[in-house]
Amino acid sequence: MTKWHASPDGGQVEAVTISTFDGRQRVVRALTFVLCGGGLEGTRLFLSSADDVPGGLGSGYGMAGRFFMQHPRGRIGRLEADARTPLALQDRHAIFGVRDGLQYETGFALTERAQREGGLLNASVILTYDADPDSGWAAFKSLPSTEPEGPERTYGRAGALMRKAKDPGSIASNLWRKGRQKRHAACPVSGINLLIDLEQTPDPDSRITLSSDRDRLGMRKARVDWRIGNDERRTAAQFGHFLPDHFTRTGGGKVELDEWVHDSGPVGDELTGTHHHIATLRMSQSPRDGVVDGHCRVHGVDNLCVSSCAIFATGGHANPTLTIVALASRLADHIRHRLNRPQLCATRTAPEVAVVS
Ligand SMILES: Cc1cc2nc3c(=O)[nH]c(=O)nc-3n(C[C@H](O)[C@H](O)[C@H](O)COP(=O)(O)OP(=O)(O)OC[C@H]3O[C@@H](n4cnc5c(N)ncnc54)[C@H](O)[C@@H]3O)c2cc1C
Repeated sequence: MTKWHASPDGGQVEAVTISTFDGRQRVVRALTFVLCGGGLEGTRLFLSSADDVPGGLGSGYGMAGRFFMQHPRGRIGRLEADARTPLALQDRHAIFGVRDGLQYETGFALTERAQREGGLLNASVILTYDADPDSGWAAFKSLPSTEPEGPERTYGRAGALMRKAKDPGSIASNLWRKGRQKRHAACPVSGINLLIDLEQTPDPDSRITLSSDRDRLGMRKARVDWRIGNDERRTAAQFGHFLPDHFTRTGGGKVELDEWVHDSGPVGDELTGTHHHIATLRMSQSPRDGVVDGHCRVHGVDNLCVSSCAIFATGGHANPTLTIVALASRLADHIRHRLNRPQLCATRTAPEVAVVS
């Protein structure tokens, strides 16, 4: 979608232009438009309305693009464990497969009480394992796709693998684990990382705006100013301080927290993005606080709705997909209800719903 066509007062979207990279264009008209381009791209498309419609679509309070969030992720420490413990840990803290291809991962979360008492964000910690490069599984994964050259040629690929791997027997058991049980491979490790995923405190200055650079279709590109605040650092630090006690009690090993967790300055590249964009066209009662109303409809635009994680007002640290689907399903009911109203039926000259992305 490359252009918005709105009514003169900006209260209705009348049509959108869609374009292809080879230069073809079509104008699509509909009674209702649903913008579902995701947290980043959907917001870029919405903001681009300012190039087509005087004042841009929406209520004019400048809320579109604000409160940009992801779930920052980073290592908060390492777990020092004796030689046998990592294998036991990998049986407890890993990815497990269940029927119908579903997977789940076991880790740690804060209790509601700890969050309330500490004023902490939602967060979870999982364990990730650096495979010992000499383990059977690591050697198997780095096996060259062609037969070795030079002295190794005598033994072939399988021979080279058996010579390199400390525990060649684990290759078969890990193939079984991964193939049949849909679980992570378990192998000797050179390190165990404590990896945190954090919710963010919504910050209006963390935002998506449009740059003056244009893409191949002539639309302005997104400029992202993503901010991570002090609440995120504080939650990471506090979470880190809960963990040693757990691992001491359960015999899992000794926790060494990373330096940055104890610092009080701004977060650097210790926490990184996950390409899981959220908020920026947030839901609110008042147009002063957000972009869409409780029915996912853009404040001030009668027939434009948004369906994606862009409408979330808060982020959380876990997968929002089921909530997105629930909101989309509710929006579909709402649109169907509106379209069934007799006064709307009388004016139908266009397809009922256009999905814009
Ligand atoms: C806190 C958090 C935790 C998450 N955890 C997980 C996780 O554990 N596992 C996981 O898999 N995911 C995870 N996610 C990602 C999550 O699955 C996605 O955020 C979600 O699918 C987004 O749905 P959406 O409908 O908003 O956007 P999308 O699913 O991205 O849909 C947008 C659609 O628009 C299309 N589109 C965009 N721009 C254009 C354009 N210009 N023209 C035409 N089409 C276009 C895209 O192709 C896409 O189909 C997490 C996200 C968050 C925020």
